[in-house]
Amino acid sequence: MTTTEEDAAAAPGASRVLVLNSGSSSVKYQLLDMRDHSRLASGLVERIGEETSRLVHTPPAGGGGQVRERLGRFPDHEAALRAAAEELAADGLGLDSPELAAIGHRVVHGGLRFTEPTVITDEVLKEIERLVPVAPLHNPANITGIRTAQALRPDLPQVAVFDTAFHTTMPEYAARYAIDVETADAHRIRRYGFHGTSHAYVSRKTAELLGRAPKDVNVIVLHLGNGASASAVAGGRCVETSMGLTPLEGLVMGTRSGDIDPAVTFHLKRVAGMSADEIDVLLNKKSGLVGLCGDNDMREIRRRIDEGDARAALAFDIYVHRLKKYIGAYSAVLGRVDAVVFTAGVGENSSPVREAAIGGLEELGLVVDADLNAVRSGEPRLISPDYARVAVAVVPTDEELEIANQTFALVDN
Ligand code: ADP
Repeated sequence: MTTTEEDAAAAPGASRVLVLNSGSSSVKYQLLDMRDHSRLASGLVERIGEETSRLVHTPPAGGGGQVRERLGRFPDHEAALRAAAEELAADGLGLDSPELAAIGHRVVHGGLRFTEPTVITDEVLKEIERLVPVAPLHNPANITGIRTAQALRPDLPQVAVFDTAFHTTMPEYAARYAIDVETADAHRIRRYGFHGTSHAYVSRKTAELLGRAPKDVNVIVLHLGNGASASAVAGGRCVETSMGLTPLEGLVMGTRSGDIDPAVTFHLKRVAGMSADEIDVLLNKKSGLVGLCGDNDMREIRRRIDEGDARAALAFDIYVHRLKKYIGAYSAVLGRVDAVVFTAGVGENSSPVREAAIGGLEELGLVVDADLNAVRSGEPRLISPDYARVAVAVVPTDEELEIANQTFALVDN
């Protein structure tokens, strides 16, 4: 096992990074070549621990290989990762390859300690374990992924890239909840923020799109996937973000409520007789778009709206109203905004969401050009007219590439 930072150098000439994203019942993996940032192979193992697990593996493009699927039972993350390693080996990309420089792990919660990507030592792993009480749903799976990868390649540097790290620059007045300080500190209750690798990557790419240095631009990033969060990034540093102690706070999401009056939870307990676990499930899994209209896929919601469905229309309006509030709030926080940028599944693909969220904000210098907004593309692009005071952009996120970049930067020598 890698136990010291000094052991963390990659083998000379090794240029590949395996990125692992271990969820509670799934593992996503991507193998990238850092010489040209090409994606060599990728895959997903889902329903780990259930009766029928499923592995889908995408081999290197251009090699003539087909996407492969395996159905079977993978009882735990170790079995899942071993199966993924076998698939990679079948493409000649086995984990034993001398070209593999490192493994980069997405770790959801880094608390206040981890402000940067970190080589995983025994001490670092213990610290990630100590954060389990603040991230009970996420960090245990990440830890299992790390341990399994270490067992497969004990000699290889492994790096943790934290979802929270980019947000550790938030000023104390943005990060602290206005609750009793002793209670908050005793239980490490504060706003941490998530989706940090995406916010970091997209804000930097937006500066590039504007032809300016990140330190010279102020950006509002709207990461709208199934989970959704906004951030205000001033000169490359995050100063505010919408998720808090957990990913529940902030925007309306696919299945999460986002902001509500905290008293709703006491009300549900006292008046509706729900337990803490039931309220947790209600707010995280049965709320947001799915709670409002029964669907969390924006494509389906738009289709229903086109057919005149009033519930879908109201869900859409609530979603967009919350977005507008955050754009306004973050404009005030930043003082000067150079760009508002949309990313992730909804942000990259849903022109109606972008149009509705920016509509009516001319006073803030925000305008969307209908033709530019209608363009479908996988490239970073502007959707505001030339005359607009503030740029509006669409920038596809790439969390795996960002994790690979940060991992490689630490181990390349
Ligand atoms: P996550 O990584 O949080 O699971 P994604 O960033 O992949 O989510 O976003 C998934 C969501 O993106 C879907 O639930 C759907 O609402 C939305 N989405 C994907 N493609 C489109 C599309 N073509 N048009 C509108 N929305 C889309």
